[in-house]
Amino acid sequence: MPDVFADLVGQGEAVVELRRAAAAAAAVLRAGAAALGTAGPARGDTLAADDAATGGVDPSAGMTHAWIFTGPPGSGRSVAARAFAAALECVHGTGCGECPGCHTTMGGTHADVRMVVPEGLSIGVGEMRALVLRAASTPSGGRWQVVVIEDADRLTEAAGNALLKAIEEPPPRTVFLLCAPSTHPDDISVTIRSRCRVVPLRQPPADAVAEVLVRRDGIAPDVAQWAAAAAQGHVGRARRLARDPEARKRREAVLAVPRRLTGVGAAFDAASALIEAAEAEAEASVTEADTTERAALETALGAGGTGRGAAGAMRGAAGQLKELEKRQKSRATRAQRDALDRALVDLAGFYRDALTMALRAPVAPVHTDTAALAGAGAQKWDAEGALRRLEAVLACRAAIEANVKPRIAVEAMMLALWKG
Ligand SMILES: [Zn+2]
Repeated sequence: MPDVFADLVGQGEAVVELRRAAAAAAAVLRAGAAALGTAGPARGDTLAADDAATGGVDPSAGMTHAWIFTGPPGSGRSVAARAFAAALECVHGTGCGECPGCHTTMGGTHADVRMVVPEGLSIGVGEMRALVLRAASTPSGGRWQVVVIEDADRLTEAAGNALLKAIEEPPPRTVFLLCAPSTHPDDISVTIRSRCRVVPLRQPPADAVAEVLVRRDGIAPDVAQWAAAAAQGHVGRARRLARDPEARKRREAVLAVPRRLTGVGAAFDAASALIEAAEAEAEASVTEADTTERAALETALGAGGTGRGAAGAMRGAAGQLKELEKRQKSRATRAQRDALDRALVDLAGFYRDALTMALRAPVAPVHTDTAALAGAGAQKWDAEGALRRLEAVLACRAAIEANVKPRIAVEAMMLALWKG
């Protein structure tokens, strides 16, 4: 059985650092236990004090209470955070992958590990306060309370402040693991950043992604190689392309866009098609969860009940249902944006291929299956024209991120792609 870091593709340096930290954390626990045995429980039970007790190891090589995992989407930020959480809860302190601590953390059922995965566009202050409060309790397994916050860049300002307070005065056995695209102030506030140790992850090379698809998912080597290149270093996306025919079909439709842009009308049609495809993909991904959640809530609220108290209960229920609908709507918006962004990344890859071909750069194309088309584009547009088109796609992504209405941003992009 491979250890918990095995799925962290192409991140050798980060894995070395995390292993070292897990070992230091285990030493802290041992020192704490030893101190308990001799001097009683009153010993200064903080990381700093315990670091000293571990024989004055370099503190920078050791453990700390707050971490930020940064890297491009798909580089494995949350995979790294989860693996590190498992190593902290591992009874051997290594992330062996075999003990109950490792198993339950990786399976998402460890009582002391909480994964916060925002479903909407932001993580609110209420959610964060509740989390911080629970994280302050004594770990039931006797090791660490670990809070993993995926997409920490989606914290609201108030939620960020609530988190900052906890990080500034951390409970002795609590560890916060944040994931964000970067440490840019747009993603993570400067004050939170200054309290965290940063683990930068890089975009894994296509070969490493292909290797893990073959080894872990049993995908045929040639398919894995193609999918890894087409996904541009995004491990999850590569796996989906390799396994899901629907995902492949959507990608083909996106890559058909450049040759369809024959006029203004065609550009608007292409924009509509792209938006509608993203909406359909998002709907497929959230509908099932929506229905299940609503049914579960209605059951919990005893919908359809009669008799004394039922009317009052229904009034409260209406509020809760409204709250659920709001959350689901927010999640649907997020899913649409994510789907659209994936399409834009594919499209950017096509124009990047045209650009590198026009420049005769000795790099492999992202999309091997549309390389001939990109080559034709390179001839027609030259490097400059290909670059302008690539920039139009990137500008569209940036505009949507900045809350420009997706349809408007995509229409502007299509016109720019057509006109050059
Ligand atoms: Zn273990």
